[in-house]
Amino acid sequence: QKELLKVNHLKQYFPIKGGFFGRTVNHVKAVDDVSFEIYEGETLSVVGESGCGKSTTGRAILRLDDPTEGTIEFDGEDLLSLSKREMRNRRKDIQVIFQDPYASLNPRQTVAKILTEAMEIQNVVPKNKRRERAIELLETVGLNAEQIDRYPHEFSGGQRQRVGIARALAVEPKLIVCDEAVSALDVSVQAQVLNLLKKLQREFNLTFLFIAHDLGVVRHISDRVAVMYLGKVVEIADKKSLFENPQHPYTKALLSAIPTPDPENKKERIVLKGDVPSPIDPPTGCRFHTRCPFATDLCKQDIPELRNLDHMEEGHRAACHHIEKIVSGDMKPNY
Ligand code: SF4
Ligand code: MG
Repeated sequence: QKELLKVNHLKQYFPIKGGFFGRTVNHVKAVDDVSFEIYEGETLSVVGESGCGKSTTGRAILRLDDPTEGTIEFDGEDLLSLSKREMRNRRKDIQVIFQDPYASLNPRQTVAKILTEAMEIQNVVPKNKRRERAIELLETVGLNAEQIDRYPHEFSGGQRQRVGIARALAVEPKLIVCDEAVSALDVSVQAQVLNLLKKLQREFNLTFLFIAHDLGVVRHISDRVAVMYLGKVVEIADKKSLFENPQHPYTKALLSAIPTPDPENKKERIVLKGDVPSPIDPPTGCRFHTRCPFATDLCKQDIPELRNLDHMEEGHRAACHHIEKIVSGDMKPNY
């Protein structure tokens, strides 16, 4: 499988200004040494609670913010070495769908204008063919040709998200970053939009980076899943492996909150103590140690690396010092 995107040691520290002179007094370590890859044609979901750094990671890939450190290779090219202008051209290949299409669609533009303008900016489709192409795109996303001259407010939330998807598709991208793309929609509409995304992925060989907090949604759409906690990836694996065999104590707790339909197979709900600590002064060592039922002194001192696990299938990685002992039962949780 071809790696389309490779994120290496990405850091995003946002300065906090203070004092009399507006000096930088501290940093929000929103993303702190994150690495992962996305293969062509797959959906990698990045999941975690709000503030874990998943959206910040997406924004860095889109170059909406410039990262503090690290590299982001797209199709073999380091995006961070590109000038703003070169990056604008690259945006043809990397598009985004946000949670709230209403905020990202110009309310004074008709759908025809929204779609043809996107084509114009990236210079894709000859000028005299753009309206025709816009109509095709509407039909591709499940809307009608007659709706082409309407304004965003004339659509329902789900339809508006379809317009947002059509706009992303208009420039024929390779990668689409979906940041909480269905979070604002009703559950039944969510399923329709997720199914549409899957259909489009097959049709156009699209690759998705799917940022979400809802594990049900993630389970529906993903091929692989990365779990983030407080600015770090703590586990990454194939969806099946991750959902059926979570390894990291945080992932286990997160997944234990999903209700299971099968009463025979009831999992115990793991309730973590305390809240997620502040990303301004994150815990030393393993960032999860303040809440982890297995934490030891080593966990407080050493940062665990995201590493392959011998007892799991290839590509299942987790960042925890004690996984082997937890799995074998040699370590008991201290709830
Ligand atoms: Fe828990 Fe330690 Fe593993 Fe972190 S490294 S998840 S604190 S056992
Ligand atoms: Mg977010």
